[in-house]
Amino acid sequence: MKNFERSTDAYKEAVDLMPGGVNSPVRAFKSVDMTPIFMEQGKGSKIYDIDGHEYVDYVLSWGPLILGHADDRVVESLKKVTELGTSFGAPTLIENKLAQLVIDRVPSIDMLRMVNSGTEATMSALRVARGYTERNKILKFEGNYHGHGDSLLIKAGSGVATLGLPDSPGVPESIAKNTITVPYNDIESVRYVFEQYGDDLAAVIIEPVSGNMGVVPPREEFLSELRTLTESNGTVLIFDEVMTGFRVGYNSAQGHFGVTPDMTCLGKVIGGGLPVGAYGGKREIMERVAPVGDIYQAGTLSGNPLAMTAGYETLTAMNENAYREINKKVDRLIEGFTAAAEKYQVPLTVNRAGSMVGFFFTGQAVTDFDTANQSNLDLFAKYYRGMIEEGIFLPPSQFEGMFLSLAHTDEDIEFTIRAAEKVFAKL
Ligand code: PMP
Repeated sequence: MKNFERSTDAYKEAVDLMPGGVNSPVRAFKSVDMTPIFMEQGKGSKIYDIDGHEYVDYVLSWGPLILGHADDRVVESLKKVTELGTSFGAPTLIENKLAQLVIDRVPSIDMLRMVNSGTEATMSALRVARGYTERNKILKFEGNYHGHGDSLLIKAGSGVATLGLPDSPGVPESIAKNTITVPYNDIESVRYVFEQYGDDLAAVIIEPVSGNMGVVPPREEFLSELRTLTESNGTVLIFDEVMTGFRVGYNSAQGHFGVTPDMTCLGKVIGGGLPVGAYGGKREIMERVAPVGDIYQAGTLSGNPLAMTAGYETLTAMNENAYREINKKVDRLIEGFTAAAEKYQVPLTVNRAGSMVGFFFTGQAVTDFDTANQSNLDLFAKYYRGMIEEGIFLPPSQFEGMFLSLAHTDEDIEFTIRAAEKVFAKL
C-alpha cells in the first residue's frame, strides 16, 4: 500500500484553512473515500505527489493540459513573457493573436471576449443572450455543468452531482425560477418547453458533449434539432465548450458535429493550464457587449499576457495531426479496457468523444443523467483506489471524464491497461 503520510499531514493542516481543505470541491476525493493527494510537480504525462509517488495523469488539471504537464514550448514562452511584466490592464498584442486563432478555428465565433474562467464565460454569455433577446428564461440540461453562476447551478453535474447537491442553497428562488431543466438527449422535452415558455426563452445552453456526468455524447441529430428549434424561436443557442473546445477536435465540438451555435463559451485548453475563459459568437450579438454596446462585462486580469501566451502556444501546437495522434492512443486505451472488463466480467460502458473518455460501471448504455446514475459507485470507488495503488491518477468521481494528452506515450497506455487488468481482476 502506498504511504500518504505527507499528504495526510498537509490535509490536516488544510482543513482548518479552506472548506474541505481544498479550493474546488472534487479535489477533496470524498466520493472515493480518500483524503486528498497533494501534488508537487508534473512533466509530460506524469505527475508526482508530495510523498514521492509517480502517476500517469488522466486528470490533466481537469482538461486544460492537452500538451501534458510543463510542455517545453509553453514553459519557455512563459519565462520570456513573465520577465516583461505579468499584467498591464491595457491591451497587448498577444490578445489579438489568440483571439484571431480562436476565431479562425471555432465556426460560430466572429468576435470574442476573454475572461478568467469557464464560470465567468457562461455567466457572461447568459447575460448577453438575455440582453440581446430581451427575454428572461434559459433552458439547460440535467447533469450538464456550466460553472457555478446562480442561473446555472440547477440540476448541475460535476462536483454538484458527485456530492449529491443538485440545487444549491444561496441561489435565490427568483433566479432559479428562470432556469428550466430537461434530460440530456431528450428533444421531446425540449419541444415541450418551447411550446410552454418559447416567448420568454432567451437561451438554450448545452455541453455539446457532456463531460460533467461522466462523458455522454449527444445522440445523432440532437444538436441539429436544437439548432432548428432555437433558430425558429429567436432563442440564442449557446454551446458551452469549456471542456470540449479544442479537446474534441481541431475545430472543437461544433466543427466535429457540424452544428454552429449562436454563441460559444471556452476555457480549459485555451488557457493551456493558466486561468482563462472566453465567450464569443455572432458579431451582431457580441457588438452588444460594452464598450461598443450596452451590456456590461469586464475583468481586471482578463486577457492577461501569461494566460494568453500559454493558450497561444498550446493551440498552435495542436495541429490536426496532433488530434489524430491523441485519438489513436484513446482507441488503444478503450480497446484494452474493454477487453479487460470482458475478461473479468466487470460491467463497463464506455463513452468517448475525441480524447474525452468516460468509463461507467454499468452494463447499460449511458445517454443522460439518469442512466449515468445507474453506475455502481462502490465499484467505481474500489476501482479508483486500486488504480491509485497502480500509479494511475484519474478524476476521483464517476461523474467526471478522463483526458489524454499529446504527451501520453504508447508505454503509458499499455501500463494503464495492465493496471486496469490487475484492478478488474480483484473487483
Ligand atoms: N463549463 C463546463 C462544460 C465545464 O466543464 C466547467 C468546469 N469543469 C465550467 C463550465 C466551469 O469552468 P471553471 O471551472 O473554469 O469556472
